[in-house]
Amino acid sequence: MANLIEGKIVSKKIYENLSDEILFLEKKPSLAVIIVGDDPASKIYVNLKKKKAQELGIKSMVVEMPQDTSEQALLEKIDELNKAPDINAILVQLPLPKQIHTRKVIEKINPLKDVDCFHPYNTGQIASGNKPYVYPCTPMGIVRLLEYYDIKIEGKHAVVIGRSNIVGRPLAQMLLNRDATVTICHSRTHNLAEITSQADILISAVGKRNLVTKDMVKQGAVVIDVGMNRTEEGKLCGDVDFWQVEQKASFITPVPGGVGPMTICSLMKNTFDLYNLQEKLQNK
Ligand code: NAP
Repeated sequence: MANLIEGKIVSKKIYENLSDEILFLEKKPSLAVIIVGDDPASKIYVNLKKKKAQELGIKSMVVEMPQDTSEQALLEKIDELNKAPDINAILVQLPLPKQIHTRKVIEKINPLKDVDCFHPYNTGQIASGNKPYVYPCTPMGIVRLLEYYDIKIEGKHAVVIGRSNIVGRPLAQMLLNRDATVTICHSRTHNLAEITSQADILISAVGKRNLVTKDMVKQGAVVIDVGMNRTEEGKLCGDVDFWQVEQKASFITPVPGGVGPMTICSLMKNTFDLYNLQEKLQNK
């Protein structure tokens, strides 16, 4: 039976350290979240972020803009936040309404305030093996989990299923930068099971329940499940057939309680890191 990788526990430890450090700061880190429109799921995510920030002593500001907001109006709002000295981190909740080009919006955010690490400056830094100002939240959460459980990355064969800009692609590059041998799989990959069976570290970031079955996993592999899906009964589950795969894996993340809690945790840590970076630059 595999050891559980418990993001809930790891994130709690990170939060404890963070709130201790923030407590002693005279000026507090601040996060601005922009939400355009009234997508119910986006509203839930934004409220969770706001609540967590408040718990930690991070100042949070939510900018709500109507569904018919023009691209220009959103770009101007970002410009205003870019220039605001009391804002350290900017997050634009995605998806955006169809009249707005997401790429233009992301490119407008000052890379030094790009808390999600979506700006091409930051993603380019990762792609070229350099340091961005902060790392993307879910991939960084996964790397933190591996580090916490002392799982060696260097020299290991990591197979990442999924190549989105949010998870799969940056994660693969971050693992490569940590000297793993990386294979990226996606919807056009042939012989998926043959490739995944070679993985020392297997990460699934697809969004398809039971995509990863026992026969696709090498004995003793580390299995990280990023997927968020629902069972017929409406329960949250991942991409991995957990009860079967955990008999073969050495370590495995549950869903819920694995990768999920690490994403918002990285967001809070990134806000704190950007604050420190900006303070340092100001005092130079
Ligand atoms: P996405 O943008 O939809 O990307 C999914 C990726 O999976 C794509 O690269 C796609 O390939 C690939 N794919 C689809 N079907 C496949 C198949 N049968 N075999 C192999 N690859 C396949 O999704 P995402 O934003 O990366 O999110 C992925 C999952 O992680 C979702 O369930 C999401 O809810 C979850 N998620 C969780 C967290 C968290 O904090 N726990 C954070 C972010 C996302 P193509 O590129 O060829 O289309």
